[in-house]
Amino acid sequence: MDSKLQELKDRLREISDLKAALAVLSWDQMTLMPTGGSEARSRQMATLELLSHEKFVSPELGKLLDGLQSLLKQLPPDSPTAALIRVTTRDYQKAIKIPPSFAAQFSAHTSKTYEAWLKARQEQNFKIVGPLLEKTLEFSRKMANFYPGYQHIADPLIDQLDEGMTVRIIRPLFQRLRAELAPLVQKITSQPGSDDSCLRGHFSEAGQLEFGLKVARHLGFDFQRGRQDKSPHPFTTSFAINDVRITTRVREDFLAEALFSTVHETGHALYEQGINPDFDGTPLADGASMSVHESQSRLWENIVGRSRNFWIYFYPRLQALFPQQLKRFPLETFYRAINKVGRSLIRTDADEVTYNLHVMLRFDLETELLEGKLAVKDLPEAWNERYRKDLGVVPPDEAVGVLQDMHWYSGTIGGYFQSYTLGNILSAQFYEAAIKALPQIPSEIEAGNFNSLHSWLKDNIYRYGRQYSAAEIIKTATGRDLEIEPYIKYLKAKYGEIYRIK
Ligand code: ZN
Repeated sequence: MDSKLQELKDRLREISDLKAALAVLSWDQMTLMPTGGSEARSRQMATLELLSHEKFVSPELGKLLDGLQSLLKQLPPDSPTAALIRVTTRDYQKAIKIPPSFAAQFSAHTSKTYEAWLKARQEQNFKIVGPLLEKTLEFSRKMANFYPGYQHIADPLIDQLDEGMTVRIIRPLFQRLRAELAPLVQKITSQPGSDDSCLRGHFSEAGQLEFGLKVARHLGFDFQRGRQDKSPHPFTTSFAINDVRITTRVREDFLAEALFSTVHETGHALYEQGINPDFDGTPLADGASMSVHESQSRLWENIVGRSRNFWIYFYPRLQALFPQQLKRFPLETFYRAINKVGRSLIRTDADEVTYNLHVMLRFDLETELLEGKLAVKDLPEAWNERYRKDLGVVPPDEAVGVLQDMHWYSGTIGGYFQSYTLGNILSAQFYEAAIKALPQIPSEIEAGNFNSLHSWLKDNIYRYGRQYSAAEIIKTATGRDLEIEPYIKYLKAKYGEIYRIK
């Protein structure tokens, strides 16, 4: 093999090892670490972060990549080696555009803002963090301007996580979705709400964890190559393709919490565990994009995990585990409870139908902020106004309003929220394609068998990691570009049936 290529792989492996060590420290911080460890841990993580970053943006790596461009031209463009050189070069070009002094300033600013946000939320007072958020907006604009040539100032920020996605592509999709969702939400919420009392009661933590692990195993999570622990906010992290961690949180008075967080994170983990093992230790060992990653957690959590077929198999098993609590509730009551739709204030608690309204209004507000059409000081009012207009509810205070999500207070303004809704849209498009290829999937799910679906996703999405771009993955897996119709069709069919809407 080309010696330069070997050198590239060796260097990338070293960087990947540092990042994996960082991920272990971060995972431990969120699951097991005693609070006393936090100061030392922040320092240790910062050191590893700096080391891996320095190694990546080093002129030596740049030279090595330059030297490999002629090899790239000779390789078949879709070969893994070509992908490795291409993806690494692109990541490198993006990374070196950020001056180290800017990165250091922004990182210091972000920690300060995050602390202020915690206090502001506690005291329900946006003004505590407002001035810092104004600086964040300046930083975000500067960040975007390191990548000139964009059509919209949010585009470079979006591109960090969702390469190729732009405001011009996203806006019409979101407009269309909002136009479809508004009347659907109206029709559903004008009816008496579903009764979800079957999910409330007392469900022992041990029982819930046991059931969650059983479900994760059924879906295909490989516990020889991963594990689940508890954390305040559920997440997935990967130390290697053969060591993928998920976390969950349990509420003994609410059955849906641990259950669906486990299924959601399992979706992310199946993706990580399903990547071609040859890619381990390289930049290819990751999801094609944030949206594609999120499409997998949503596909397993919502399309599969909240489907009637899924519960035809699992509900009797859940009842057997919690007979006193669930025996008197038929499957149909349970199915409606886990798909209850309502207008609410908090994005992370929202149901499948209203969830995107929460996301899209954040996307609109952040693009308006970046465009200079909205001032940071007017953000709380604009937030409340949008909640009144889009969801028909007005936050009683700022903690459950503009301060509820950490995103703007722990990074840039812009670049993140679109992934959630794009992920939902894609989840339906991928699922539709899987069913078209393998029509037996729904009846298999009814029998507790997820092999066909899992294999299809692995063969068409997971195994490629970042070998292909998100747009290429979507096109080859579904035969079409990203489109919204399958998602709208899915929501209308499912909730039309539950709420008897024609
Ligand atoms: Zn997720």
